[in-house]
Amino acid sequence: MGAIYIDPVKKRATIQRDECVECYACFNGLSQEHLNPTLVRTVRRVFAAMRLRFEPEPDVCPTAAFEPDELVWPRVVRRAFSDPRVPHESTGVEGRGTEEVKTNDVTGRVKVGDVGFTIEFGRPGVGVRFHQIQEMCWALAEANVSFEKKNPITSLMTDVPSGTLNPDILSEKVMSAIVEIKVPVERAEEIVRLVWQVEKKLGIVIALGVATRCDESGEEEVVAPILERLGYKLSRAKTNIGLGRVGTQEIQRAKETVQV
Ligand code: SF4
Repeated sequence: MGAIYIDPVKKRATIQRDECVECYACFNGLSQEHLNPTLVRTVRRVFAAMRLRFEPEPDVCPTAAFEPDELVWPRVVRRAFSDPRVPHESTGVEGRGTEEVKTNDVTGRVKVGDVGFTIEFGRPGVGVRFHQIQEMCWALAEANVSFEKKNPITSLMTDVPSGTLNPDILSEKVMSAIVEIKVPVERAEEIVRLVWQVEKKLGIVIALGVATRCDESGEEEVVAPILERLGYKLSRAKTNIGLGRVGTQEIQRAKETVQV
């Protein structure tokens, strides 16, 4: 996030707390040597005075300077959305905290006739603040979409019908977050245009994911033409082929019914 910088006054590496998203990459990614900081600085000064070039290993912190803070509400949401090893309390899922439609075989989130959208904010090095996500959620709620219940952004809403997030978190910055909604397929174009409009207003980059059901021949000819007309070049990203637990049980039940 560019949160670590050399303070020009202290002349030491410092973390700009408001930009840090608590991803813990710096803390977890470095091996720590626990050397005395005064000794390390003195050695470096001597090397510099003698014009000797010293190139420390980039992944070693000689003085074990990184120490994680005790995170409290609302700052704690930063880590939940930024450290991929921490599961979200609301969903129990790590990373962005949602299974999206990767488990649609089992969850059936996106049904025949539905189109699901994942609206993904932020990236490593970019990040997003919740007040930006809030603008999108308000616009979507006004368009009367259905927010996915098992999604950490939805769980942070104090009022789901209006898409209002808990005001405590609006200034918090996170690595990335996903808003998930679904609407009937006929509304696909309207939603894409709405997302474009809000994205432009916010001046940020959003990745839009679209999920829909294939027909019996494995093709999708309802939403794909709409997206192509809107200028997207389509390629299949992730395909659920129906081997999930619920599907298998249903097949078994169907077989038993036929035998009876
Ligand atoms: S926790 Fe992440 S964002 Fe914060 S300083 Fe470390 S690497 Fe940068």
